[in-house]
Amino acid sequence: MSSMLNLSAQQKEHGDFADRIFEECGVDVRRCYQCGKCSAGCSVHICKGMGVSPNRIMRMVQLGMEDEVLRTRSIWACVLCSTCTARCPRDIDIPRVMDTLRIMAKKRGITEGFNNASVFHEIFMNSIIKYGRVYEAGLLVALKLKQSGTMFDDLPIGIPAIINVAFRLPKLPPRMKNSNQIRKVVENCKKIEGES
Ligand code: SF4
Ligand code: SF4
Repeated sequence: MSSMLNLSAQQKEHGDFADRIFEECGVDVRRCYQCGKCSAGCSVHICKGMGVSPNRIMRMVQLGMEDEVLRTRSIWACVLCSTCTARCPRDIDIPRVMDTLRIMAKKRGITEGFNNASVFHEIFMNSIIKYGRVYEAGLLVALKLKQSGTMFDDLPIGIPAIINVAFRLPKLPPRMKNSNQIRKVVENCKKIEGES
């Protein structure tokens, strides 16, 4: 976050950011009074996996810091566990806000916040659409190929782990009954998204 941020200009340009978040997901971030209980209970933040803490993300939304918040690692690192919401005295559904911010970042093509997570997100969803549930071995291969273009760059440091994981994972994609229904759900969501 830049220390030279002009908050007045920011408010003028993106002052409706919290309103738009509310329209998208029904969560009113303006209710947050910065007690910090969400961040104190967030294990991803405690393990220093976020960069910007959840309460600061809420504050940035309040301040209309749209570009900055969409570029944070936090919106991709959040695991949507809802611990923060359970602790929040204002009942703010932070994971829902995080998910909405991801969708906004994706729509705007902003992925530098946490590129690996954004790639993972895409491959995970493609697996769900194709098989009705995630196919872990396929996900692993697709992720490695997309990230580094090769399956073998981790071999020197991870051969035992890779062997261990490879033996535990199902070798073939799962066969789900009615997996075409999941595809239909996704298609309908895309239609609704296109109409809005
Ligand atoms: S716990 Fe709720 S009110 Fe407190 S900082 Fe987090 S979001 Fe805001
Ligand atoms: S939902 Fe996200 S922000 Fe909230 S505690 Fe879990 S990881 Fe942290």
